[in-house]
Formats: sequence, structure tokens, C-alpha cells
Amino acid sequence: MIAKRYEPFWKTTTLEDMESDQWESICDGCGKCCLQKLQDDETDEVYYTDLSCHQLDIAKCQCKVYETRELLVESCLTLKVEDIPEFHWLPDTCSYRVLSETGDLPNWHPLVVGDDKEMQRQGLKVSHYAVSESKVDEEDWDTHIIRWVHGMPESYDPF
Ligand code: SF4
Repeated sequence: MIAKRYEPFWKTTTLEDMESDQWESICDGCGKCCLQKLQDDETDEVYYTDLSCHQLDIAKCQCKVYETRELLVESCLTLKVEDIPEFHWLPDTCSYRVLSETGDLPNWHPLVVGDDKEMQRQGLKVSHYAVSESKVDEEDWDTHIIRWVHGMPESYDPF
């Protein structure tokens, strides 16, 4: 007898059809979307900085006001199904973006591994390098612009 192969929900259910708890669990908790971004007025290009929203608990890589974040932080965006075509502004390791573009989750994702140890080991959480926006004058934010290389800021060496 051939055993039936178990397929996890993210391979059998599209993002559009997921239940809310499934949708929430796709977030890998990297915290990258909680980093401040700067946009070029002329080209509309978005640049990430290593400055985190003041409501991010950097050590835990968790929003301190998750349930009311959109009320308390004007620029905070909640990812929604209807925004999937706009996911290109997210870092290319964001699991929503990876799943929508490839149909699968990265092999370090907590749903695949069972916990976030692999993300920690690979330095994929912003807790390894983020600085709170409240510690830097807004006029100096452009000195904190980063470029992503394999899911980490270019000059950052987690080892
Ligand atoms: S970048 Fe994507 S996966 Fe990472 S915390 Fe934000 S929504 Fe979640």
C-alpha cells in the first residue's frame, strides 16, 4: 500500500482562500516590514532603513501594540489579501511575498521547521541589527538606509 503524502495547508490553499489564522501564521515574524522606509519623491523607489518602528519590541521582534497598531501608528499597514499584487514593496524574504511568488514557503520558515530557531541561526530577524527610530533624528534617517542581501542588510555579518 502506498502511503498518502501529507501536503501542508500553504501548498493546498491559496493566500486568497486561507482562514484568518492560516493567513496570520504565514508571517514569519522577521520584523522587516516594521522597519522605517524612505521613498524617493521623483522615482517612487522605496528604501528600507535599519530603523524600527518605536512600537516594535526589538529583542522579541514583536509589535508591542499589535491589536491596535493601525490606530496608534499612522503609517502602519496591515497586509490584506487584496494587497497581494502590491507585495513587491515587501522585502524579498517576506514569507507572504515568497509564497505568492513561488507557491511555497522558505525552508527556514517556522511552519516548516517547527520554531524560529533556524531564522535565529541565520540572522533573519531584525532583532539582530535594528535600532529604534526614536533614537535617531528624522533628518539623519537617510544615513540608515540599507540594501538587502540574502535577507540581511548588506554590511551585516550575523557570524
Ligand atoms: S516582512 Fe512579512 S514575514 Fe516579515 S514580519 Fe513583515 S509581514 Fe511578517
